[in-house]
Amino acid sequence: MQPKYDLRKIKFSVDEGTFKRAVGLYEGGKVIDFEDNLRGYSATVTGTSPYFISVSNTDIRKGNCDCYVAQNKNELCKHMVAVAIYSILRGEKMKEDESAIEEFACSGKLGELSNEELFEVKKEISSATKFIKGYTGPSKKWFEYQSSLSEGVCMLELVFSKLPVSKQTSDLVIKTLLKLDNKLCKGGVDDSDGTVGNFIYGSVEILKDFAKLDKNCLKSFKIFEKQETCFGWEKDLNLKEI
Ligand SMILES: [Zn+2]
Repeated sequence: MQPKYDLRKIKFSVDEGTFKRAVGLYEGGKVIDFEDNLRGYSATVTGTSPYFISVSNTDIRKGNCDCYVAQNKNELCKHMVAVAIYSILRGEKMKEDESAIEEFACSGKLGELSNEELFEVKKEISSATKFIKGYTGPSKKWFEYQSSLSEGVCMLELVFSKLPVSKQTSDLVIKTLLKLDNKLCKGGVDDSDGTVGNFIYGSVEILKDFAKLDKNCLKSFKIFEKQETCFGWEKDLNLKEI
């Protein structure tokens, strides 16, 4: 049975390095003895010593591996990710765009979104920000929580990287960042790994590129004349220096 997640979701749930290493294991034929069972999959990943893995078919974050990373660091390990990839591709070769890591950067294209596109983008942003929520642990495992933050951030990175450059989209980016800033400040988000913070700073760089390409974007920075953020990232949007 196919899992409820897809390759995109897997990619978004782990850091770049883990994803790449998992792809390496999958493509190197290291996933063996793969079996479907009622709630998910089990398999062995070969290496210096074999690891025994189980992964849920509904949530990539739920599963087990007897390697050091999964057991001691409580993180989603490359073996579990490799087995999850196997559950989708079943030994087929991974396409290049499926294994590619998208770059988080300004699209460089000038333009506005149509009303319809704007509606869709707002919907994507709102579903992404739902993953960035307060930590209610300890019942929830830390790595499950971290990976939820990372999934939300990856979705947002993808949306921001596709945006055309104009005051309209610059307003949208700033509004989203202010919402995240508020979540970090008052929403109980535990960003001790800096996932969300790094995303905000990355987005500020994108906003600077926006302003270089279209001076109208500077108008949307004016909101910071009246409003300060918790973390002061808006100070990088100094109108005179751009
Ligand atoms: Zn492992």
